[in-house]
Amino acid sequence: MTREVVIMGSGPAGLTAALYAARANLSPVLFEGLTPGGQLMTTTMVENWPGMRDGIMGPELMAEMRAQAQRFGTEIQSIEVSRVDLSQPPFLIVGGDGTEVRARAVIVATGASALLLGLPSETTLMGHGVSTCATCDGFFFRNKAVAVIGGGDSAMEEATYLARLASQVTVVHRRRELRASKIMQEKAFANPKITFMWDSIVEDISDVGQGAVTGLALKNVKSGEPSTLAVDGVFLAIGHRPNTALFAGQLEMDQNGYLITRDGTSTNVPGVFACGDVQDHVYRQAVTAAGSGCMAALDAERYLEGIPRDTYETKSQGAASLSMQNEK
Ligand code: NAP
Repeated sequence: MTREVVIMGSGPAGLTAALYAARANLSPVLFEGLTPGGQLMTTTMVENWPGMRDGIMGPELMAEMRAQAQRFGTEIQSIEVSRVDLSQPPFLIVGGDGTEVRARAVIVATGASALLLGLPSETTLMGHGVSTCATCDGFFFRNKAVAVIGGGDSAMEEATYLARLASQVTVVHRRRELRASKIMQEKAFANPKITFMWDSIVEDISDVGQGAVTGLALKNVKSGEPSTLAVDGVFLAIGHRPNTALFAGQLEMDQNGYLITRDGTSTNVPGVFACGDVQDHVYRQAVTAAGSGCMAALDAERYLEGIPRDTYETKSQGAASLSMQNEK
C-alpha cells in the first residue's frame, strides 16, 4: 500500500511535521531511527522552548512531542532507514530490518550530529557541563569559567556569545591559526573576556566521579607539555555533520553535505521536502527546526493536493484556509 507521507527523523522537525501531517489526515509514517528524539536527548534543561516558563528537560520535551504526534495518528517505526529510492514517485523507503514503504511524499528531517572529540569523559559528562550548543546551555554558566574547543566560525560565535554570560572564556585550538573568518576572529580577539590556548588538544575532561565538569587536561601538540585548565563548562564547536549519507546522488546538497531547499522546504525532487538541521547550518535551534517541520508538512499537503506553490504564495486566502484547517 502506498502511504501519503513518510517522515524520516524524530527530532523537533520530524515530530512537528508528523503532528501537522497527522492532523491533515495524511496518516504519516515516521521512521524515528536509532537515536530517537535527536540532539535534544543529550540536553538537560531546555529553557528557550516557548511556553515552558520553568523550562523542560530535553528528553521529556521530546517524549511529549512524540506522544502528541502519535495522538493524532502518526505511525512510528522504531527503525533506521537504510536505503531510499527517490527517483520517481511513489518513493521507496527501506528500513534496516527490510521493511519497505512507498510514499507519495517524503519529508527528510534526519538532522545533523555535532562532532565530538571521542573522549569517554565527554560522553559521560554531556549535559552535565559538556555541551555542543552555547545558545541552549550558556545560561547555566553565568559568571563561571568555560572553555570552547575549536577554531572555526562556530567556535568564535560560541565564544563571543558565552562571553556575555560567563566570567571567562578560553578558546582551546589545536593549531596557531584560526579557521574562522577574519571578522569573527577579530570580534573574538577584541573581547577582553576571551583568551586563547593555541596548539592545544583536550586529553581528558574532569571530573566523571563528581558528575560535573571541573577542568580539562590539555596537551601542547608542539612541545608535548601537559597542562590543566579549571573550567565549569566546556563547549565543543568542532563542526557538525548533516545526516545526509542516505541521499547522496539523489538530493542536492551544498559543499558541507546540507540539503539544499528552495521555495520553502522543497528539495530538487518534487514531492520530497526537507526541514530542520539537515538543511539549516545557521540557526540550529529546536524552535526553528520545529517551525520548518510545520512548513514541510504544509508544503507536502499542498503538493499532494496538487496545489501549485505560486497559487498559495499569491492567493493568501487559499493559504490561510489551509493553515486554519491545521491549526484547529
Ligand atoms: P569548521 O569550519 O569545520 O571548524 C571546525 C574547527 O574545529 C576547526 O578549527 C578545526 O580545527 C577544529 N576541529 C575539528 N576537529 C577537531 C578535533 N577532533 N579536535 C580539535 N579540534 C578540531 O566548523 P564550524 O566552525 O562549525 O563551521 C562550519 C561551517 O559553518 C563553516 O563553513 C562556517 O563558516 C559556517 N559557520 C558560519 C557562521 C557565521 O558566519 N556566523 C557561524 C558558524 C558556522 P582545524 O582548523 O585545525 O581544522
